Amino acid sequence: MIVNISKKKVKSDFVTKVEELSGQNLLACYQCGKCSAGCPAISQMDILPNQIIRLAQLGLKNELFKSKSIWVCASCMTCNTRCPKGINVAEVIEAVRQILLRKRKDHVELKDLSEEEKREVPPIALIACFRKFTS
Ligand code: SF4
Ligand code: SF4
Repeated sequence: MIVNISKKKVKSDFVTKVEELSGQNLLACYQCGKCSAGCPAISQMDILPNQIIRLAQLGLKNELFKSKSIWVCASCMTCNTRCPKGINVAEVIEAVRQILLRKRKDHVELKDLSEEEKREVPPIALIACFRKFTS
């Protein structure tokens, strides 16, 4: 992935917003990769959880917004428990999703789902919510 890094992006409102919504200090991450190593959804992701944190640190919002991974994350919180720096990676991913959803940009359109997907998606969403609000 080729990206343009600038001081302006690192100090951007986007970075502040992600930290505010997630309650996490992004710069605490030292890229050990333990979050990614334990993620059960990794096979479906285009960028790894530790890479999501790196992109968020650098304010590279467009790369994050177009990533499939932020929607694949099931909020299982495994990454949170594995992080040696105490970073709640799942909350960072949730923050990126929230920023997009507040722009009314949904990743999935209901009309585009197959019948099989419509049967499977609600339980996945319910389990993710349950874990999020009871952890
Ligand atoms: S486990 Fe924590 S410190 Fe390590 S890469 Fe993931 S977020 Fe960063
Ligand atoms: S919360 Fe998301 S990123 Fe973290 S381990 Fe679970 S599926 Fe992977």
